[in-house]
Amino acid sequence: MVTLQGKGVYRDICIGRLVYYGGNHETPRLVVEDCQAQLQRYETAIQTARRQLADLYERSIRTVGEANAAIFQVQELLLTDEKFSGAVRRMIREESVNAEYAVQEAGKRIAEELEAVEDAYVRERAGDVQDVAGRLLAALRGSAGIPERPGEPFILAAEDLLPSQAAQLSEGVLGFALGRGSTHSHTAVLARSMGLPSVMKLGPGLGPECSGKLAVVDGFTGTLYIDPDEATLSAMEEKKRESERHREMLQKLKGKKDITRNGKRIKLFANAGSLADVEAAVANDAGGIGLLRSEVLYLDSAAAPDEESQFFFYRQALQRMGGREVVIRTFDIGADKRVPWLATEKEENPAMGMRAIRLGLERPQLLKTQLRALYRAGLYGKLGIMYPMITSVEEVQSLRALEQQVRRELEREGVRFADRVPTGIMIETPAAALLSDQLAREVDFFSVGTNDLTQYTLALDRQNDTLERFRDPECIAVLRLVEMTVKNAHAAGIQVGICGEIAADTAFTERFLKMGIDELSVPPGMILTLRQRIREI
Ligand code: PEP
Ligand code: MG
Repeated sequence: MVTLQGKGVYRDICIGRLVYYGGNHETPRLVVEDCQAQLQRYETAIQTARRQLADLYERSIRTVGEANAAIFQVQELLLTDEKFSGAVRRMIREESVNAEYAVQEAGKRIAEELEAVEDAYVRERAGDVQDVAGRLLAALRGSAGIPERPGEPFILAAEDLLPSQAAQLSEGVLGFALGRGSTHSHTAVLARSMGLPSVMKLGPGLGPECSGKLAVVDGFTGTLYIDPDEATLSAMEEKKRESERHREMLQKLKGKKDITRNGKRIKLFANAGSLADVEAAVANDAGGIGLLRSEVLYLDSAAAPDEESQFFFYRQALQRMGGREVVIRTFDIGADKRVPWLATEKEENPAMGMRAIRLGLERPQLLKTQLRALYRAGLYGKLGIMYPMITSVEEVQSLRALEQQVRRELEREGVRFADRVPTGIMIETPAAALLSDQLAREVDFFSVGTNDLTQYTLALDRQNDTLERFRDPECIAVLRLVEMTVKNAHAAGIQVGICGEIAADTAFTERFLKMGIDELSVPPGMILTLRQRIREI
């Protein structure tokens, strides 16, 4: 038995076989005998990538417009660019290496050269070269790098996972076991919202050789047992049964009110990132959805999602919640949630870069498409629209102006839509909290995103797993900003909720109630735990 100690992300147990996902790993250099076969594989991969890019271009014209879609034409040209292709072919021929390695190395080398150029346009192409190299690598591997799934549910192990990978790979997964990863990252948020027992920061002991081995993830203690001995396995099976019994006991709270013993009511809502989460919200008796992270639509696709597919998704979510409030957040892409189809400048500090509404204001067509879909879907339920990453009153005013434009366009086109949709903002930057008195006059509600508010207040990168000891467990600075926000919201007569992960931490529930928080929005699997806590206060 091997025991690896890390950090628990979702408090539950899962037992199953490990599948190691090596998507983040470098392709090894292999010396081959048949160079001709490797060259042929490379030509076939080019054809596959070319078809994919042509398809992406066609689809993107409809969604992001011709000018933005042109990036895929540029990438198509890069595919056959002599500098890149010539380097790959030369390396295969002269060094007798596998095609994957040649593509990886040529891509790296050319991207580095481009990055060193002064001209910003040329520098930007470095990302395209890497993107094209990644596409060719996937084509050479015959898949998007996703491991073959065993017939039965499994534990997905990896060194680290991007949020987009976690979303794409979650099918059939019992839990995640990661060598690295930060428990405050978006990947951790996703794991919690999917209710998957997961552990992170397990260290270098977790490698591809673990694939196929039986393992236990203990999300309570943050431990991974590989090849557990009989005593450990039976102890873990008992702990799993105990956890199931506790969950069963919580089921009795369904249908009960979210009210304290002295009669204070609070809205207990769920966070969601997919329709499966919406189902989980219903199953766990959430009062509504306080945060639907729409970016999953953007992360999961090869191009910007079009209006129809978004409309369909939002309508389904609203209908499924059957008249209960559903707050949909406009796309929060950028930072760690980079989408490959969007050509953006390489950033030194992406968390403080072109993210969320900044991207929406820079490329209004992208946001307008989303708003159109949202307003149309608003006819099918009780919708609220929420904007992430606000730092100023001017931003909110620009967004409100954009909303108005969208509504006028829909009206002119004779398209039916909901015109009275409450608009809220996330308070997730210190600036927004400090300006909350002014911001409260511009919108209908606030929701505090403590995950980012902590990152930006304490200057603690939420992706960086080495900073754990600098985190203040009491969250004093952040709580002061929350308190200030609540006072300002209430003075202006609007409601304020918390949708960051701290909302689900029962150690803080009483504090939040005392502050006067109107709503807590938590991962669906935490609703009943919170209900139990609220009812005993
Ligand atoms: C937050 O920042 O607290 C939040 C809820 O948003 P996300 O975790 O999606 O950044
Ligand atoms: Mg956030």
